[in-house]
Amino acid sequence: MSRRVLVTGGSRGIGRAIAERLARDGFAVTVGYRERTADADAVVAGIRAAGGDAQAAGFDVADRAACAGALAGELAAHGPYWGVVCNAGTHADAPFPVLSGDAWDRVLRTNLDAFYNVLQPLVMPMVRAHQGGRIVVMSSASAVLGNRGQVNYSAAKAGLVGASRSLALELAKRQITVNAIAPGLIETEMIQGAPVEEILKMIPMRRIGRPEEVAALVSFLFSAESGYITGQLIGISGGLG
Ligand code: NDP
Repeated sequence: MSRRVLVTGGSRGIGRAIAERLARDGFAVTVGYRERTADADAVVAGIRAAGGDAQAAGFDVADRAACAGALAGELAAHGPYWGVVCNAGTHADAPFPVLSGDAWDRVLRTNLDAFYNVLQPLVMPMVRAHQGGRIVVMSSASAVLGNRGQVNYSAAKAGLVGASRSLALELAKRQITVNAIAPGLIETEMIQGAPVEEILKMIPMRRIGRPEEVAALVSFLFSAESGYITGQLIGISGGLG
């Protein structure tokens, strides 16, 4: 039986590359998404066509009750996950003096509250399975560097670093590793509209990263070779920061 893993936001962008890579690595992958069912179905179909094992699960990571319901169903149907990638995220950028309360709440709920909403129902079943495991949380270079117009996003992504470190300490003796990764600028829909030419000047490698490069890092963190790495924040940013 393949080990089962969940990738939230697995239907597009970085999460899609992670889902496809982990499927190639031999994991049975649950592709999480919120609303674009066709995108998630396409990822699942592609993985199955390549001989892999995947299924889609649509739920809003910002909605605690929706997560509890969907994840209880997943656990009942498939048993505990061996690994989870908390990748789903969003941003709503604005200079702080005009940052709306809605933009603050939406970004904090989707990026930070989701850590609790997704992981809290899944961790005890992982522990009880006595199989060890892997958790990777998607932070951002913005968490450590800050970024103009991203006070909400930086707050949420920095919060994830602290949450990951503490959870790593709680789960270490269970051989479940918890690490956060901090991508710089990665080529996805999320960066559409960003001032790419300006940002490129700040990136020592002078290029945008590819989702597959982030997926390769997650693949390593899900491998047996990385079993002694936990509680870390690992940058993948072309030297930014
Ligand atoms: P995209 O916008 O391309 O994709 C976002 C994914 O997350 C989609 O699958 C989307 O599903 C899902 N999603 C969004 N909101 C929710 C929600 N409330 N509930 C469930 N699923 C949701 O993002 P990226 O691939 O660019 O980013 C992935 C992660 O990496 C994010 O956490 C982001 O903050 C982080 N990151 C990205 C960087 C970049 O430069 N791209 C840099 C640093 C960090 P659906 O399509 O159904 O809405």
